[in-house]
Amino acid sequence: MSLVIVGSLAFDTIETPFARRERVIGGSATYCALAASFFTSPKIVGVVGRDFPPAILRFFKSRRIDTQGVEIRPGKTFFWEGRYGYDPNMRETLKTELNVFQDFQPELPPSYRRANIVFLANIDPDLQERILSQIQSPALVAMDTINFWIAHKPDPLWRVMGQVDIFFANEEEIKMLTQETNLIRAGKKVLAKGPRLVIVKKGEHGALLLTRDFVFGVLGHPCEDVVDPTGAGDSFAGGFLGYLDRAGKLSRSEIRRAAVYGSVLASFVIEDFSIERLKTLRRKDIEERFNEFRRLVSF
Ligand code: AMP
Repeated sequence: MSLVIVGSLAFDTIETPFARRERVIGGSATYCALAASFFTSPKIVGVVGRDFPPAILRFFKSRRIDTQGVEIRPGKTFFWEGRYGYDPNMRETLKTELNVFQDFQPELPPSYRRANIVFLANIDPDLQERILSQIQSPALVAMDTINFWIAHKPDPLWRVMGQVDIFFANEEEIKMLTQETNLIRAGKKVLAKGPRLVIVKKGEHGALLLTRDFVFGVLGHPCEDVVDPTGAGDSFAGGFLGYLDRAGKLSRSEIRRAAVYGSVLASFVIEDFSIERLKTLRRKDIEERFNEFRRLVSF
């Protein structure tokens, strides 16, 4: 199979109650592709400015990530600044600068157009829709978003949602989007619009998978020190979709396993700032933690 990921490649400034990091590497496509690369060779679509370090693009390639769909343009790379409170599930966006993403009009390379799985990671919903229309007949389409787009572009967002199979959101975002306070009710509202599966990420506590006829819960790894929660959602999606791409099957049991891999990848990312933990992570660490997850819930 093959997996195409469209999303942001970014510089992030992150503040937690304990530390601050300026202009570190981030972006929804960055986290997602690196997480997926432990299972498959994802293809990414995005744009960066001339200020983006070529070493990071080389690092992607060393992880067998196809970067043919990444444009390098004059101008500045997307920038995001966020602040976390003592509760790492609560974050505030302080700045979003779209920069080169502002007028990005990608034409997908031919090999991308034949993708089986497409992930529309967090980015402008109009751009998500334009990319999706270029893919010939994907077997599975998933999307994610963030409160910035829920606030600025709700109509295009609902429109894209009608064209996807899986909708990822964190708890705060899905409640904001549906204007519901109850998660199950919020999930049902999204399911009524088209997606077959809604995955609600609950930060360090795991995720809830909702379909019209089954609910499945995944725990988060018990982690005492959440260093930087940024990218947890994208890494969850990367682990989930990367595993499904490699499994080549979309059965319920594979979806459950994929969700555990998603949670495992997210649990590693939050152990350090930016993509640092993804640089040192090895496949055997992932398998060990996957087995720990199994022990955590068997009784
Ligand atoms: P996550 O923590 O998984 O929800 O995603 C965090 C990443 O999303 C950060 O690395 C940011 O660069 C990126 N990001 C934040 N806001 C936006 C936005 N409005 N559009 C696209 N990407 C964003």
